[in-house]
Amino acid sequence: MFNRRQFLGAAATGAAVYAAGAFTPMWAQNAPNFGTPSLPSPGFRRVKMGDVEIIALIDGITRRPLGEEFVANAPLSEVRALLSSQNLSPDYVDVPYTPFLVVAGNRRILMDTGLGEFGGPTTGKLLENLAAAGFKPGDIDTVLISHYHGDHINGLRNKAGEFVFSKAKVMVPAGEHAYWTDTTRAAAAAGGRMKGLFDNVQRTFGSMPEGMLVPFQPGAEVAPGIKSVAAYGHTPGMSMFEVSSAGQTFTFLADLTNIPALFARNPDWAVSFDMDPVMARQTRRATFERIVAAKGMVGGFHFPFPALGQMAASGSGYAFQPA
Ligand SMILES: [Zn+2]
Repeated sequence: MFNRRQFLGAAATGAAVYAAGAFTPMWAQNAPNFGTPSLPSPGFRRVKMGDVEIIALIDGITRRPLGEEFVANAPLSEVRALLSSQNLSPDYVDVPYTPFLVVAGNRRILMDTGLGEFGGPTTGKLLENLAAAGFKPGDIDTVLISHYHGDHINGLRNKAGEFVFSKAKVMVPAGEHAYWTDTTRAAAAAGGRMKGLFDNVQRTFGSMPEGMLVPFQPGAEVAPGIKSVAAYGHTPGMSMFEVSSAGQTFTFLADLTNIPALFARNPDWAVSFDMDPVMARQTRRATFERIVAAKGMVGGFHFPFPALGQMAASGSGYAFQPA
């Protein structure tokens, strides 16, 4: 078992490697070849909920060889056994990335942006799938950001530095923004494992035009019928988004859990990217309990396609039931 210091170290390493969006991540070097994940086609799924439409848009999938580090507080043998019991490979995990689009009247609201041009070959498909669903980047009026890890923000800007959703306001959790743009904290991170994350935030949010960036407080109504719900732990200021229409709710869970086959089934397990694993676990348990009781619909950024559906109690945790 890790002590707390080793534990945070592991979290920092995982997050930094992840967010930097390196073409050959550290964990993939010299890794056995487990093949390429196949992407769903079409790469979008639309559901009606009351007066709104919710569209899952997959950005891609990364196949990640399973190592000791992925689940920070469980033996690898147990992790492998849980995957096998669900007919999943015990040797690797497929981690999908799925932003969501909410179409409400004349509003087009995108939740998170995927890896854009900064990930591997099986990622960066958001715009392609947005087009397949019938929308152009210029149609998006609002981008809601859940947290500042690279797979959620990198799609905001291309490699030339241009803003991809050029007409959109970019709404961000105020606390998350403050954490990652704190110059003292960024300077302290220089040379350390977290440097990649801070640099990535600078590249993405630095020199954003006046009026484009709109920070919001937890609980704020970020668009008509869409509320921010604080979900701290995975990162210091992460926000989920709750969409309500005609008495029904859809909650975009962001990274409340990484892949549900492991972290919904075992809500007490910590993915190495959880920055405060204890708080993340409390947030996870409380959120799932509330959503299952309300029979609400969920969308999970790292959930298997179509990444939307419902959660059901299962053993000492929860199971994802795709729509
Ligand atoms: Zn993520």
